[in-house]
Amino acid sequence: MSNLFYQAQGRKPTLDQSRGVYMWDQDGKRYLDGSSGAMVCNIGHSNENVLTAMRRQMEKSTFGYRLHFETEASEHLATKLANLMPEGLNKVFFVSGGSEAVETGLKLARQYAVTTGQGSRWKVISRAPGYHGCSLGALAVTGYAPLTAPFEPMMRQMPKIPAPRAYLDGLDADDPATGLHYADMLEQKILAEGPDSVLAFLVEPVGGASTGALVPPRGYMERIREICTRHGVLLIMDEVMTGAGRTGKFLGSDHWLARPDIVVMSKGLGAGYMPLGAMIADDRLVAPVLDQGGFAHGFTYAGNPLACAAGLAVVNEIEMQGLCANAAEQGDRLLARLNGLMQKYELIGDVRGKGLLTAFEFMADRNSKAPLPAGLNAHQRFVDIAYAKGLIVYSRRTRDGTHGDHILVCPPLIVSDAHM
Ligand code: PLP
Repeated sequence: MSNLFYQAQGRKPTLDQSRGVYMWDQDGKRYLDGSSGAMVCNIGHSNENVLTAMRRQMEKSTFGYRLHFETEASEHLATKLANLMPEGLNKVFFVSGGSEAVETGLKLARQYAVTTGQGSRWKVISRAPGYHGCSLGALAVTGYAPLTAPFEPMMRQMPKIPAPRAYLDGLDADDPATGLHYADMLEQKILAEGPDSVLAFLVEPVGGASTGALVPPRGYMERIREICTRHGVLLIMDEVMTGAGRTGKFLGSDHWLARPDIVVMSKGLGAGYMPLGAMIADDRLVAPVLDQGGFAHGFTYAGNPLACAAGLAVVNEIEMQGLCANAAEQGDRLLARLNGLMQKYELIGDVRGKGLLTAFEFMADRNSKAPLPAGLNAHQRFVDIAYAKGLIVYSRRTRDGTHGDHILVCPPLIVSDAHM
């Protein structure tokens, strides 16, 4: 009898050990971690250099409250991250996870508006489907009814535009007109809401769990940048899943000319070694907030030295091992393999992704894009079968949360040809 509860599904095997891309349960069964947990373990499990850095930090100090002490670990990691960001994004605020990072970005944006005479701006436009976290503020910008519906009375839903799922709408994602078509929905929404009321647009550069590795159509990202600039709307890039090399560059948004005003990261930053997240903002947003009393925000564990020491060692490993390049190379290989499976199995209706954020989607009919019958729960059945065979993958319902089955295949970025 366990005292834990997470989901209705039955108990899972108990984890014993993890090394590299593999995990073992207490019965000695080996699993290939084909989803890096929940797209977290970017550098693989039990990396010796990270463990050493953590041990060293533990021997010095595991906690120093941020209002009492600066710590070397958080200073060094902040500098490292600022150097990896687009020009001008130099101000880093540490948190312990993705939802906290999103909340931090939203609140900084709002406080910037208040301190610069733009107090009428508070609406944050985001996309549906889209996922930004499970705390109430992050849920308000999440477009995924199965997760938001029970909590509607407790939060203020923010405006949504459709995610650019060209493959479902029968449009060609390589045609620049498609990118403009979806991006212009943002402008229409800003105009409909009233430009003076819109604070920010929050977007996953490559879609995560809710859309299944959705890559934006050509021209989309550049156009949304342009639209945000035109209307004085901040562009917040949710890099919680795409950051730390997952898509083949350090940030997912580095693939396009769409410089964010704020970046939020988490998963691959702590890479499963410690709970860690970061919000990195443009200097010009932070200056007026600090000048006028400071940021009215902060979690107790923010900037925890052990988490930051782990994060710094993780980012060093990404650089030293060339893991962005490996993600790009192995990602191309994986996409080719998945496309091969699509040729072979009618049931696979779409394959998509960038770097090692890849997915395939089951469909009843590839031409009409009709999803499999809802009762089939194909995504869960596939995951269960793979799990029984020692392969971990990640699945979600993709359409309105009751239809459409996609499987994310996102191994650690250290994956080799042999693992593939
Ligand atoms: N944003 C994105 C894009 C995510 O994929 C997630 C988690 O899956 C979050 C935010 C929330 O992160 P966390 O679960 O660490 O709170």
